[in-house]
Order: sequence, then structure tokens, then C-alpha cells
Amino acid sequence: MKFHGKNIFVTGGSRGIGKEIVKYLAEKGARVAFTYSQNEESSLELIKSLDSPGHQCFKMDLQSEESVNGCITQVLNLFENQVHGLVNNAGITSDQLLLRMKTEEFDNVINTNLRGVFLVTKAISKVMLKMRSGSMVHITSVIGQTGNQGQANYAASKAGIEAFSKSVALELASRNIRSNCVAPGFIETEMTTSLTDIQKQEIFKKIPLQRIAQAVEVARCVGFLLSDDSSYVTGHTLSVNGGLHMV
Ligand code: NDP
Repeated sequence: MKFHGKNIFVTGGSRGIGKEIVKYLAEKGARVAFTYSQNEESSLELIKSLDSPGHQCFKMDLQSEESVNGCITQVLNLFENQVHGLVNNAGITSDQLLLRMKTEEFDNVINTNLRGVFLVTKAISKVMLKMRSGSMVHITSVIGQTGNQGQANYAASKAGIEAFSKSVALELASRNIRSNCVAPGFIETEMTTSLTDIQKQEIFKKIPLQRIAQAVEVARCVGFLLSDDSSYVTGHTLSVNGGLHMV
């Protein structure tokens, strides 16, 4: 039980990659608190499906500082001010070509994905600083490394998180707090179901491993970076993209 006795906070655990991260961490012995923004029902079902007790879900809107801080207060109560791991997973897309992209569409993505990560990380850092240990993993994207047509807002938010993570890694390393990113490629979740079969075939052609990944394959990498197995890794971005983009 790699995470026995560890409290881990995951944003956006109600579905997709976050849900698999919650399941993986709980299976490995962690006590998990996770958030949802809309899907309370599926979050409660997820908790019921877990074999171990003590996990809880909380509503949080990353666009609202008040909501983030209110949620984190509840999480810290649950965890009695002991947070060993943080996974900044929640994120959105709002795709549009640059010339058609409304300022609101740009702001929504940046505020949720990048500003939201700042708010959560700042609040959790305070607790980890007192503990003089901790591990944070931020979910970025291959798109933050390559850019993508129609995703200027999303690509900028994910590239921003990588730079943010490195800065946090530098600031907190002396207190034994690590900060790393996991950059997934194409993962089977609701975010990618909107792709047509033809679009998927075109994508597969570019992926050396020739398939889309399952969310658990991302969860395992997040687990590695949260755990002591990666105790000398900080400021790193681990690509989980089937070889799609090699940095
Ligand atoms: P999903 O769309 O399946 O899930 C998104 C999660 O974020 C949900 O838990 C959702 O809660 C939560 N969320 C949405 N909006 C907000 C908000 N305003 N405030 C707080 N939480 C919110 O996403 P994926 O699982 O596909 O993606 C997870 C992460 O991985 C994201 O950061 C994404 O950018 C990244 N990623 C995904 C890839 C993929 O192929 N799927 C590829 C590369 C990166 P609720 O269910 O309540 O709406």
C-alpha cells in the first residue's frame, strides 16, 4: 500500500482522468478528497464504489477564489491539516480559431486551468510548508508543448502551468516539497469523445504506439510522481503521449 497514511487532494475527480486518479490512489491506500464542479451524483457513486472508507468529495468552481478557498477549508478539516499530495487535474477546453475566439472564451480557459491551479497550489503549499514535505502533480497536456489549431487558449494555459510548476519547484524544494507535471496525449475521456472516427484515425497515424490511452495509464504516472519512488524528481514534466511528441 504505497500511500498508506497519506492524504491526497485531487481536483476534478468526478470523471475522466481525475476519476481514475482517485481510484488508483484509493486502491494504493491513500485517503482521497476530490472535487467536482457539477457532477455530484457521479462523485458520490465513485466514493461508494471505493473499497476503503474515509474518502470525500467537495464542490468547487476553479473560476471563483471564494469557492476554491471554501472547498480547501473543508478539505483541511477532513485531513486535519495534513496534506501529503496534491493533484491539479481539473481543466476545461473551449476551442475556437484565434480570430473567432471571444475574449470570454480565452478568459474562461485561462481562469479555470491556470489561475485555478495558482489558487489551489498556493493554499495547499501553506500546509505543506508547515509539514516540510509534500508532492504536487499538475496535469498539463501535449498541446501545451506543441500548440494546436483552435486551442490557443488551452495551449497557453497548459504551457503556463508547466512554467508555474518549475517556479514552484524552485521556491519550495528547500522545504522538501516537489512539484511536477504530467502531460497526457490523447486519452479516452469525455473531452476526446467529441472527435469523429476519421479524426481519431488521423491522430493514431501520428502516435508511434498507435492507440489512444486509457485514463488509468495517466493515473499510474501521477502515482509515481506523488510517491517516494520519485523522491529526487522535481520541476519535471512526464509525457504520457505514446511518443506523439518527444521533448
Ligand atoms: P473531463 O472533461 O472528463 O473532466 C474534467 C473535470 O474537471 C471534471 O471533474 C469536472 O467536474 C472538472 N471541472 C470542470 N470545470 C470545472 C471548474 N470550473 N471548476 C472546477 N472543476 C471543474 O476532463 P479529462 O479527464 O479529459 O481531463 C482531465 C485533465 O487532463 C484536464 O486538465 C485536461 O486538460 C487534461 N488532459 C486531458 C486529455 C485527454 O485526452 N482527455 C489530454 C491532455 C490533458 P464536473 O464533472 O463536475 O463537471
